[in-house]
Amino acid sequence: MSRRETRLQSPIYMDNHATTRVDPRVVEAMLPYFREHYGNAASTTHRFGHRAKEAVDAARQSIAAAIGARAREIVFTSGATESNNLALRGVAERAGRKGKHLVSVATEHPSVLDPLDKLRRSGCEVTLLPVVPAPDARAGLLRPEQLAGAIRGDTVLVSVMLANNEIGAIQPLDQLAGVCRGKGVLLHSDATQAVGKIPVDADRLGVDLMSFSAHKFFGPKGIGALYVRRRSPPIKLEPVLYGGGHESGLRSGTLNVPAIVGMARALELCLEEMAEETARLRALRDRLYQGLTASLKGVALNGPAVSSPEWRLPGNLNLSFAGVEGETLLLSLADQVSLSSGSACTSATPEPSHVLRALAIGDEAVRSSVRFGLGRFNTAEEVELVIGLIAESVSRLRGMLGFSGLGG
Ligand code: PMP
Repeated sequence: MSRRETRLQSPIYMDNHATTRVDPRVVEAMLPYFREHYGNAASTTHRFGHRAKEAVDAARQSIAAAIGARAREIVFTSGATESNNLALRGVAERAGRKGKHLVSVATEHPSVLDPLDKLRRSGCEVTLLPVVPAPDARAGLLRPEQLAGAIRGDTVLVSVMLANNEIGAIQPLDQLAGVCRGKGVLLHSDATQAVGKIPVDADRLGVDLMSFSAHKFFGPKGIGALYVRRRSPPIKLEPVLYGGGHESGLRSGTLNVPAIVGMARALELCLEEMAEETARLRALRDRLYQGLTASLKGVALNGPAVSSPEWRLPGNLNLSFAGVEGETLLLSLADQVSLSSGSACTSATPEPSHVLRALAIGDEAVRSSVRFGLGRFNTAEEVELVIGLIAESVSRLRGMLGFSGLGG
C-alpha cells in the first residue's frame, strides 16, 4: 500500500508545524534498538555497548552530512527547546568580560525568548528586533540593515530563526550571517522548522550554532541536536546539564539510541524526497489558499507572499477569517480537521500570538487567524475537503454572529 493511504484519516491532521507523524520507515529503523541492541552507547566493556555506539556514530555522521557539518559538531539533545537553551545560555555564560548584550527577533519561538528573558533577569541586555509589518510581501522578515544597526561592541550573540513556526517566514540567514561575521559576533539559528523541509547547510549559511528537532521532520519526539561549529575558531559553550560528560561534556545524560537512529533515518528520507515533496506541498498549499479565497470574502494572508518560495515554507499557510474567532472555528471543526489558531500556537498558555502581533495586523486579525501546516501524509483529497469544511463553517459562524463587516 502507498505511504499516503487512500483511506481518509479522520480527523484530517493538518498541524505539521506542531509535530509530525513518525514515518513507518523510521519506526522500522528504530525497532532493533529497543529489542536487540539496547546497550548503553557509553559502555565500553561489552558488545552491547559497542553496537549502540556504532549506531550513534553512524547516525551522527549521517545527520552532520545532511546539514553541511562534521560529526563532531553535532550535540544530541532532547529537542530544540534544549538546544536553544544550551546555545543561548551556553554562550552568554561563557562570554564573561567580552560582553553581556544579545540580539534576537520579536517573532522567535518561546524556547528562544524565554531563555533570553532569564538572561536579562540575570544581568544581560537583550535587543529584540522588529520584523517587516503586514501587508508587505516580506511581512515577517528581518532586514539585514536593521540587524547591523543593533550590534554593539559588547554584543556576544545574535539569534535568528531560519523558518518561523506560525507564518513560515524564511529569514535571509546567509545575509544576516555576513553582518555578524563582519562585526565578529556569533550567530545562532533555531532551524527547527527548516531542517528536513528546505535545504540547510550550516557551513554555507555561515551560522556558528544551529538547533533542530526530529519530531518536526517525521522522526520521534524527544530527540534533537545542536550544531556547534568546531573550526576556525571552535565555539566554546558552558553546559546546561552536568553529569557523566557525554557529548564532549556539553550535554551529560545517557544517549537515546533508538531516537538518534530514528532521527538520522527521518532526515535521510527528507533529503531523498525533498525536491519532489517541496513541489507537491507547494501545490497543495497554493490550492488551499486559492480554494479558500475563492469561496470566502474577508480572508487575509498573514506572513510573506505565498508566491515567493524563498521567503515562505512550502507547506505553510496562515490566514485570518474576518469576523470569526480562530479558536471558535477550530472547535466547530474539531471532529473533522486538526489545525492551530493564532491564540495557542506555540506554547501551553493560550496567549494571542506574539508572532502575528509583530506583523501589526491588529488584535482582531490575530484572534481570527488559523495556521495550516501541510506535511508528508496530506493528500489533494484532504485539501479539497478542508476547503469545503472551513468555507462552510466560516459562513455559518458569520451568519450566526450577524457579521456584516465585509461591505456587502
Ligand atoms: N523552535 C521552533 C521554531 C519550534 O517550532 C519548536 C516546536 N514548536 C521548538 C523550537 C521547540 O522544539 P521541541 O519541541 O523539539 O523542544
